[in-house]
Amino acid sequence: MSISIPRGTQDILPGEVEKWQLIEAKARELCEKYQYQEIRTPIFEQTDLFARGVGDTTDIVQKEMYTFEDRGGRSLTLRPEGTAAVVRSFVEKKMFGYPNQPVKLYYMGPMFRYERPQAGRFRQFVQFGVEALGSNDPAIDAEVISLAMNLYKEMGLKKLKLVINSLGDKESRTAHRNALVNHFQPRIGEFCQDCQNRLEKNPLRILDCKQDHNHELMKTAPSIIDYLNDDSKAYFEKLQQYLTQLEIEFVVDPNLVRGLDYYNHTAFEIMSDAEGFGAITTLCGGGRYNGLAEEMGGPETPGIGFAMSIERFIAALKAEGIELEINQGIDCYLAALGEEAKDYTVGLLQKLRLAGVSCERDYLNRKVKAQFKAADRLNAKYVAVLGDEELANNKINLKNMATGEQVEIDLTQFVEYFQELKR
Ligand code: ATP
Ligand code: MG
Repeated sequence: MSISIPRGTQDILPGEVEKWQLIEAKARELCEKYQYQEIRTPIFEQTDLFARGVGDTTDIVQKEMYTFEDRGGRSLTLRPEGTAAVVRSFVEKKMFGYPNQPVKLYYMGPMFRYERPQAGRFRQFVQFGVEALGSNDPAIDAEVISLAMNLYKEMGLKKLKLVINSLGDKESRTAHRNALVNHFQPRIGEFCQDCQNRLEKNPLRILDCKQDHNHELMKTAPSIIDYLNDDSKAYFEKLQQYLTQLEIEFVVDPNLVRGLDYYNHTAFEIMSDAEGFGAITTLCGGGRYNGLAEEMGGPETPGIGFAMSIERFIAALKAEGIELEINQGIDCYLAALGEEAKDYTVGLLQKLRLAGVSCERDYLNRKVKAQFKAADRLNAKYVAVLGDEELANNKINLKNMATGEQVEIDLTQFVEYFQELKR
């Protein structure tokens, strides 16, 4: 019996992987411009980190974690998201003491969630995310949002929709929370078990329920917008002013919630509006989490970030019919005939490669004609032909595959000649 790939995972093969590399490179390039630095945290963490850092009323913690016990009896979990670990590291490494504040970090790597696999939903997926810790200025919220938007735009996406909301500060949220409890309590029996548990722990999450979202009480539920105090309103207005200044279009959706206790003020999602993108349209989610560092045992530190998966990024490109320009083809194929010539190419390849030339040769003992065919398949710009006779005369024959033009070059000068040609 053969073994197949685990459910909800994928092999990214050559031909496809180049798209990933382009997106990843663009993300790194933008982070450099925006001055976010990379942080790499472990793929697994103590399970408690996510119970605390993501919230034990969330779907992630309740249903989706890959948790296991190691041989030492510790409960560990494959990371389902990136923020918790970044904030853990921020606290543990005392980054709050760095002279440069806010601390602006980004991460990129695989995340793991035990979900029902479907289009755009995998059990292992790659997230790119940023976190800015230490500033409470709405300008940084706007910066974080613009970084995500610009990444999508620079890769060619046009059908984007930015949705924002404010969850307010602690005071506003407490007032809203009480209103939600009063609203749902009398008829909570009509809701799913998850929602019944959420009522006391985190009633905001009821609004996010996928099972009960059509219940009539959902439509009449008190909106956070009506509970924002003056400070929260001013913060939200400032953010909108900055987004407008940056010419980033947005819509305000008071039902957009990211229901962790320490989430506050800004919440946002970027969706794809492209036809045929499918049921799952969210490309990126983010928000402000001013209480999280304290929850992790650090000093009170404001923070904001987002996370997006490369999988959904690529799906959105496909839905908009965008083919990324993939730079394919090699500089030179070394075709050899005869034993001595073949031996000689071993060293010549090495010299070319060290000189920055991408090149390939035959390893299957093919005839010259078949070697030319292989060169074609590799999209070689040049084919250099070396026979034992040329070798004896210290010459090599170089053919430009685009023009058909051929020249004979001194073998000792070949690498330099080629370097010059590339320039
Ligand atoms: P959803 O409502 O789609 O489950 P979420 O709220 O669980 O999203 P977040 O935890 O905010 O998503 O993750 C941020 C981003 O990571 C999402 O916007 C999406 O791009 C991506 N993402 C989340 N889960 C998956 C998954 N299982 N497969 C691929 N991408 C994912
Ligand atoms: Mg999810």
